[in-house]
Amino acid sequence: MHRLFYESVDLDRDAVLRKRDDWQQVLLAEESLRILICHAGDPLFAWPEDMDAHELVVLGAPAVPHLDVDLHAGQWIYLGRDEGGPVIAVDIAPVVADREEAVRKLGGGFGDMRTRMANLSVDEAALAAQARAIFNWHQGHQFCGACGHPNLVAEAGYRLQCSNPDCGKSHFPRTDPAVIMLIHHQDHVLLARSPQFLPGMVSVLAGFVEPGETLEQAVAREVFEEVGVRIKRPQYVASQPWPFPGSLMLGFVAEAETTDLVPDNEEIEFAMWVHRDDVPNLPEKGINLPRPISIARFLLENWCAGHI
Ligand SMILES: [Zn+2]
Repeated sequence: MHRLFYESVDLDRDAVLRKRDDWQQVLLAEESLRILICHAGDPLFAWPEDMDAHELVVLGAPAVPHLDVDLHAGQWIYLGRDEGGPVIAVDIAPVVADREEAVRKLGGGFGDMRTRMANLSVDEAALAAQARAIFNWHQGHQFCGACGHPNLVAEAGYRLQCSNPDCGKSHFPRTDPAVIMLIHHQDHVLLARSPQFLPGMVSVLAGFVEPGETLEQAVAREVFEEVGVRIKRPQYVASQPWPFPGSLMLGFVAEAETTDLVPDNEEIEFAMWVHRDDVPNLPEKGINLPRPISIARFLLENWCAGHI
């Protein structure tokens, strides 16, 4: 099975350096440093928004003083180092709030990350996804949940520290677990449509894990709630970080014990059983499969091929 989109490989998150106060100076002195620029979590592409771009803007330290934007006033996070060297992401929204102005100053374009990300290489997508998840977390946790005072960014972005000395609480990045499951019955797979999907698209079922629940229980509950089907033997297959805004998709495969489909008409507007051999032909009938970068598609293709 191939590597999933948004999954980084061989990235050393370098927890030792990111705890040091001088991590920025240390990294800026490294010749192989790569800097990604983001705006409210979205990475800067080398091409305008309306072009089918597949290249992120990657700067070295020498470029920083020559930019028309003061990067030092932005929000810096250290993503880690791979075989190409260390990688930093800088969010410039605190410096240039207006995205169009930022594009005028820097060139390129930010665009919608969900659609543009599909054009990136797996390595670039993994870095951009990691940056986006951290920036999203900062954005949603500007104030301490315990006392309401502003939080300060610490440990190269991986910890938020309450600025109130009487509280001083540390907050750590949040990841929301969600299960996504391919349900099959003999040679048929359960595909369903949510009103939030792109027009014509069907997919496997998914939902968030609730407190006090195992992953397997979440799989069974979500399937029953959404389409009224009882399942058995849920088996974990793979996971995928999904930075919209900060989920971890946990992929399962399970057998259906019952086959009557009763969509809940809220999260699911219709559901159907599709024979394994008919799945590749669905697009000819105007029914779209999930995008190739998604774990939903990964589960579907691997099940159709008999790998899971
Ligand atoms: Zn506090």
